Formats: sequence, structure tokens, C-alpha cells
Amino acid sequence: MRASEATTYYFNKAADQLQLPEWVRKLLVTNKREVTVQVAFERDDGRIETVLGYRVQHDNARGPMKGGLRYHPAVDLDEVRALAALMTWKTAVVELPYGGAKGGIGIDPKTLTKREMERMTRSFVDQIHEIVGPDSDIPAPDMGTNHEVMAWFRSQWEKYHGFNPAVITGKPVEEYGARGREEATGRGVGTMAVKMMKRLNIRPDQCRTAIQGFGNVGSHAGKYLHEAAFPVVAVSDLSGTYFKPKGLNIPELFSHVIKNKGSLEGYSGAEKLPAEDLLGLDVDLLIPAALGDVITKSNADRIRAKTIIEAANGPIDPEADEILEARNVTILPDILANAGGVTVSYFEWVQNRQHYRWSLDRVRQELDRTLTDAFEQVWQEAVTRKVSLRTAAFMLAITRVQRASELAGWLI
Ligand code: GLU
Repeated sequence: MRASEATTYYFNKAADQLQLPEWVRKLLVTNKREVTVQVAFERDDGRIETVLGYRVQHDNARGPMKGGLRYHPAVDLDEVRALAALMTWKTAVVELPYGGAKGGIGIDPKTLTKREMERMTRSFVDQIHEIVGPDSDIPAPDMGTNHEVMAWFRSQWEKYHGFNPAVITGKPVEEYGARGREEATGRGVGTMAVKMMKRLNIRPDQCRTAIQGFGNVGSHAGKYLHEAAFPVVAVSDLSGTYFKPKGLNIPELFSHVIKNKGSLEGYSGAEKLPAEDLLGLDVDLLIPAALGDVITKSNADRIRAKTIIEAANGPIDPEADEILEARNVTILPDILANAGGVTVSYFEWVQNRQHYRWSLDRVRQELDRTLTDAFEQVWQEAVTRKVSLRTAAFMLAITRVQRASELAGWLI
């Protein structure tokens, strides 16, 4: 199943519960705008490289559209469509005054030097600067991009439109970025795990956890959970799974990846298993924090965890979701679980617009409050309506977007 079909499948499951008429579904599923552009840039050796860049704007009923930029070889129009729609539902679940969008470039950033990455980013901005802006569509980091890319994006956009740091979020802290943005997605995942285990009556120290992916999201989630006394027994990346039944030394792993260009390769404080073994480990909580579409019907039977928190976007495809639901596995869906990132992006945008800076404590406090409210609402909805947490989250999100569209007279 293609990524966009999977997102539409989850949308329809909730729309069925809400008995949404066909014409409303069509309006809410169709993207406002899809743009594919040529991104041409100079390699360090003087050759010209040509790749494709995308920006999909899904819906703006609840506010300016918001969503990250992904640099990854698997990026294509279909994936960006799926991720743009997820942003609309994500911002609605946590009640941020935004719609949803997403963009990216189909390239492996590891094959680029820093200067090439900068030239590519600036060329991308040259192509899309007219359709993004602080009141229309605000990009942010995603897989393969970081605060440096955001800084280049902003500087190039400002060449056309003048000073306005609110055009993009996830910027370096020294360049109008928000304190706490980098840790935000992982911290949010950790916050959700704590709340969820409380609801399920599982003590943190009894909750053996495995995290797939140790990038920005996985590593910060691991750090938060380690501090909250969860035994994080396994983490993985492309180089392998690192397993320690009594609990890994997360601070040590953290410094290892910082020294080792982001890779877990060479870490000797744990047993090393093949990367794909992580999903089948005997743990209580599984956190996929890497790519989408990693849990499918071909491996769903291997999963032994009773609880899954989707830190990545779209890690479980609908067929696997059905299999796991039938086995009573509790799944906290991406649109709630990883919403910490866009929430602190919102705080950054607010600070930029007010020319005011919040302390890290304030960012963390407001993040915690926003996510706690959303978690409680989704949990309550699932209990009341007797549906999964995913369907409950989609139902709340769809109702909010539908209401905003209706109040604005539908044809925004
Ligand atoms: N790319 C992140 C996401 O998928 C963050 C988006 C943002 O901060 O706007 O939620």
C-alpha cells in the first residue's frame, strides 16, 4: 500500500465512525496544492546535479500550513502527500492554530558535502519561496534536515521577502530558534510513554523498552525514558541492534553517537544483533522512531510488545495495524505521539512574532501541558467511543478541521 493510501485508510476509518458525508471526505482529503520543482545545484567539483523537490499543502482551515522538509532518497510526491495530511491531523489533535503541509527532496544527504547541501537548499528556496511564508506555510526540520538547513532556508527566503524569521522553525538557537526545539519530539514521545504506562498500570521500572532509530527523535526519547527510570534494553540504527537486558547506559550511547557522526556503529557496551532483530525482541514497549512503513503484515506477527508508541511518521501500515489491534496491542498513533516537535515549532513561531524569548523551563512546561491535554482527550475519546487510540485521535482531529471549514464557509 502506498503511503498516501495508508493515511487515507486511517482517515476513512474515523470518518466512518463520524458518519462523514462523501463530499466532506473528498474536500478534507484532497490537497490544496502540490508542487514539484527542479532543484539544480553545483557539486564541489563543478558538475551540476539535478534532483526533484516537493511541497504539498494539504489543508489550511485551522491556520497557516505547517510541516517539515525531508531530505531522503525515498522522498517522492506520494510520500510527501501522506506526510502533509498527517500534519493537518497532528496540528488539530494538539490544537495548534495551523493546517498541514510537508516538503522534501529525493536525495541521500549523506552523499552531499555541507556546501553542496547549502547550495541545494538555497536552490530549492528559489523555486518555492513564493508559496511559503509566516502566514501561509511554515516549514521545519524533518528526517535528513537540521537547524543549519533551516538557517540557510531562512536566509535565502529573506533575500526575496525581507527580515522575517517566523518563515521557518527549528532554526539554530542563536538565530531566532526556540530553546528546547531540538529535543522536543523525543521529549514528547517520552512524556506520552509515562502517561500511557500510568493509564495501563505498568510501573516505569517494569517497562522494558526498545527504540528503533537513534537519531534526533529516538535518542531524546531514550534519554527522557532513561531519566524516568524505564529500562531501555535495546536501540538500533542501520548498523545493528544494541541489546542489554538489564538496561542500556543511555548517556554513554548519547556521547557515542555524538562522537561517531550520528551512528551507533562500534558501541561496545551491549550485545550486537542484526538491525532487523529489534522489532521482535521480548519487550513491553516498542518505539519505532525511524522510517515509515516498517511494521507490515510480513513482520507484525513477530512483534511481542503489548504497547507501541509511533515516534516516526507512518511506521505501521493498515494491514499490520489490524493484526496488532486484533491481538490487543495498544498503539499510540504518530499524530499524537510525535506532536512534541511541531508544538515547540509553534512556540518558536510565537516567540519570533513577538520578538520575545522564552526560557527552556517555560518551553518544557507549556509542551508538557499541551501534550497532556491532548493525550487525556484522545484517551477519553477512545474509551467513550470504544475505538482504538488512532481512530480516536483522527476523530477529534477531523471534527476540528471540519468545524473550522464549516465556520469559514467551506470554500477557504
Ligand atoms: N517534521 C516534524 C513533524 O513531522 C515537525 C514539523 C514542524 O515542526 O513543523 O511533525
